[in-house]
Amino acid sequence: MGQVICIDGPAASGKSTVSRAVAKKLGILYVDSGALYRIMTWQALEHGVDCSDAAAVAAFCETVNVVFEVRGERVAYLIDGEEPGDRIRTPEINAHVSPVSAVPAVRARVTAWLREMPQLGDLIVEGRDIGSVVYPDSPYRIYLDCDADERSRRRLAEDIGKGFQVNQEQVKASLLNRDRIDSSRATAPLKKADGALVIDTTNLTIEQVVDAIAKVFRP
Ligand code: C5P
Repeated sequence: MGQVICIDGPAASGKSTVSRAVAKKLGILYVDSGALYRIMTWQALEHGVDCSDAAAVAAFCETVNVVFEVRGERVAYLIDGEEPGDRIRTPEINAHVSPVSAVPAVRARVTAWLREMPQLGDLIVEGRDIGSVVYPDSPYRIYLDCDADERSRRRLAEDIGKGFQVNQEQVKASLLNRDRIDSSRATAPLKKADGALVIDTTNLTIEQVVDAIAKVFRP
């Protein structure tokens, strides 16, 4: 079984950018756990499931099948043979993903998938409960923090690049709303895992954060 570097933190704190770069630097696999919650939400919406109905979401999530495949330095997710791409990164998915992720049956299914992935090799996994719940025994548990205005600036630039019609206020409100739901839910809330290394990325470059993480890893 491979080792796991756990990266948790609020929305748009730099987890994906940093985790991809660490994966490349160390030659390990990048795993995006948020994408699995986004896939659940996307599939629920596609099948007309009411995302605010926890019982309906719980029943539906058992029917979602994802195939995992190593592609370069990441684990890719295939639904009906295809990667979802930016279809899981729309403002609509952003608005529904936190309530869907709060459903215990959804968390149980995604957590079970994630716990099988170390069979593929050493991993860097980013999310909200990776060091606190999914792999609490990992020696590498990191929490990335960042000022909310800086996070919304970063996310706005990404969203505009994807062609979404959004402004900074909307982006900030959406991020803070997700953080509020993600940190206050009963099951596996977003929090700093005991003993996690906390890195505030607000005034750091990507390289500085990547180096700080890469240097603690012992292959
Ligand atoms: O990381 P990303 O912003 O793509 O995550 C989307 C959503 O998925 C989060 O807002 C949260 O509701 C959920 N999530 C989670 N646990 C994780 C990863 C993501 O609840 N480990």
